[in-house]
Amino acid sequence: MMTREEYIESLRKMKLNVYLFGEKIENPVDHPIIRPSLNSLAMTYELAQMEEYKDIMTVKSNLTGKTINRFCHLHQSTEDLINKVKMQRLCGQKTAACFQRCVGMDAFNAIYSTTYEMDQKYGTVYHKRFVEYMKYVQDNDLTVDGAMTDPKGDRGLSPSKQADPDMYLHIVEIRPDGIVVKGAKAHQTGAVNSHEHLIMPTQSMKEEDKAYAVSFAIPSDAEGITMIYGRQSCDTRKMERLHDIDLGNSQFGGHEALVIFDNVFIPNDRVFMCEEYDFAGMMVERFAGYHRQSYGGCKVGVGDVLIGAAAVAAEYNGAAKASHIKDKLIEMNHLNETLYACGIACSCEGQKTAAGNYQIDLLLANVCKQNVTRYPYEIARLAEDIAGGLMVTMPSEEDLRSKEIGHYVEKYFKGVNNVATENRMRILRLIENLTLGTAAVGYRTESMHGAGSPQAQRIMISRQCDMESKKKLAKSIAHIDETKNIQ
Ligand code: SF4
Ligand code: FE
Repeated sequence: MMTREEYIESLRKMKLNVYLFGEKIENPVDHPIIRPSLNSLAMTYELAQMEEYKDIMTVKSNLTGKTINRFCHLHQSTEDLINKVKMQRLCGQKTAACFQRCVGMDAFNAIYSTTYEMDQKYGTVYHKRFVEYMKYVQDNDLTVDGAMTDPKGDRGLSPSKQADPDMYLHIVEIRPDGIVVKGAKAHQTGAVNSHEHLIMPTQSMKEEDKAYAVSFAIPSDAEGITMIYGRQSCDTRKMERLHDIDLGNSQFGGHEALVIFDNVFIPNDRVFMCEEYDFAGMMVERFAGYHRQSYGGCKVGVGDVLIGAAAVAAEYNGAAKASHIKDKLIEMNHLNETLYACGIACSCEGQKTAAGNYQIDLLLANVCKQNVTRYPYEIARLAEDIAGGLMVTMPSEEDLRSKEIGHYVEKYFKGVNNVATENRMRILRLIENLTLGTAAVGYRTESMHGAGSPQAQRIMISRQCDMESKKKLAKSIAHIDETKNIQ
C-alpha cells in the first residue's frame, strides 16, 4: 500500500491535461484550488497506515491474498459491506468533505460481477481481463475514477438519436488490438486526483444504442483525455492572502470535473464491455446500488462534523442550554443516524453474486439514497438555525487581522466571554463551508443528485418493492374473494 506522500508523488509524475478557469494547469497537485481535494483523497491512504484503523481501512484481497486498502477491495461478505460503510463514515469525519475514492471501489464491484455474467452468456473474456486489471489496481494501490454519467444532451432522446452523437460516450472504431472511443463523462468526482478512469455506460441500452454500451479502463494521462475542473461556490477564497478562517475547512475539499475523450484508443486488455447492450442496465443498476449504499456512510461522517459544529456554535453563542437548541441537535442526530441505519441495513441484507463478490440489497440501498436527498438538507437547515445569521454577515479574516479595525471585529463579534472571537468565527465559517461553501457541493447538492437524482431511486423502489405480494397480503387479511367480483 502507498503512504500519503507516495500517493501524492505518484500523481505528480502523471502528465494530466487539466484546465481550470480557462487555463491549462501545469501542476494540479500543488494548485491552491485543487489541493484540498487531493488532501481528502490522501486521507484514504493515511488512515490505512494507522494501526487503530487497520481493521476498517485494510483487508485481505481475495485475488492475491495480500493486504490491500479496502477502497480497492471486492467485497467478500456482508461484513465487508458493513465495514465499507464504516470506513466511509470515518473518512467523512476526518475530512468533512468528499474523499472521492469510493466511485472506483463501487465500479470495481459492479464490473466484476457484471463481466462474469456477460462471459457466461456470450463466452467473452471480459471477467478474466477485469480480474487482471484488479490485481494491477490492488498491487499498486491506485485511485480510480469510476465514471458513469454522460452529458446526455436532450433527455427525451436515446443516445443514438441525439443531434450530437458525442452526448454519450461511444465506440467510434473497433480494431483488432482495441477500440477507439469518443465523448465525455460529466461530474466526475476526484477525476483530477485519480490514476485511472474506469468507464461504464450511463443507462440501460437498446440494440440501436449498442455503440454506447462500453466499459473500459484507461490511465488519466492517456492521449486524447482532457479534464475541465468544476468550480464551486466560494472557491476563489482559496486564492486570497488570508483564507484560513474564511474557508471554514482550509485543508480539505472535494471536486468534480468534465472528462473528455477525444478519439482515445483503449487496448483490448482494458476493454470490459463492447456492444453487449443487454448488460448495460445490469452494470448501471449495480454501480448505482453500491454508490447509494456509500452515501449512508460518507454523508453521515460529514454530518457528524456539521452536528458537532452546530453544538459548538451554540456553546460559543451562549445558547447551548436552551431547550429548543438541545432538541434541534437531537433531531439532527436522529436524521443522521437514520441515514447510517439505511447504509448498514442494505449491507446486512447483501447477497453473493454469481461471480462471488457481495452485492448490497438494492431496495434498501435505494431507500438509503432517497433519504440522503432529504435529510442533509434538514440537518443543514437546523445547523443554520442554530448558528445564527452571523454565519453569512460577518467580516473577513483580513478585517479581523486589520490594525485599524480588527479591534472592532474582536469586540462586537464576541459571544460568551471566555471564547476568543476568532474561534467563534472559525466555527461559523465551518458551518458556512458545509452548507453554502465549497463543501456544500458534496454535502448538499451531491446529496440530491450524486449516485442518481431522487427520481432514479423512486423508479428502483417501485421495481423492487414487490407491490403484488403486498396486495395479496391485504386481500388475505381482509378475506377478499375475488370470484365475487363482477367479471
Ligand atoms: Fe465517496 Fe461520498 Fe464522495 Fe461518493 S460522494 S465519492 S461516496 S465521499
Ligand atoms: Fe458522489
